[in-house]
Amino acid sequence: MSYAIDQLPDLSPLGGHWTITTARDIVDGRPFEVGLAHLPGVEWPYQPTNCPIARGSWYLDGTLLLCDGCGTDGT
Ligand SMILES: [Zn+2]
Repeated sequence: MSYAIDQLPDLSPLGGHWTITTARDIVDGRPFEVGLAHLPGVEWPYQPTNCPIARGSWYLDGTLLLCDGCGTDGT
């Protein structure tokens, strides 16, 4: 699951912002649009389309889960 792309939480408390990117559904391989977080000082090691990481970290007091590999919203 993730936030709807028009309902992504405000990243300004972290000094960041969103872009919208296309990722592939891990189950059926279909592309879908998802928010990609840009945070100051953070370089995500993977692109959303080839991210092998199935693990995330919580931000914004536990209301936002970002993939540790590519920074997409996985809340
Ligand atoms: Zn990822």
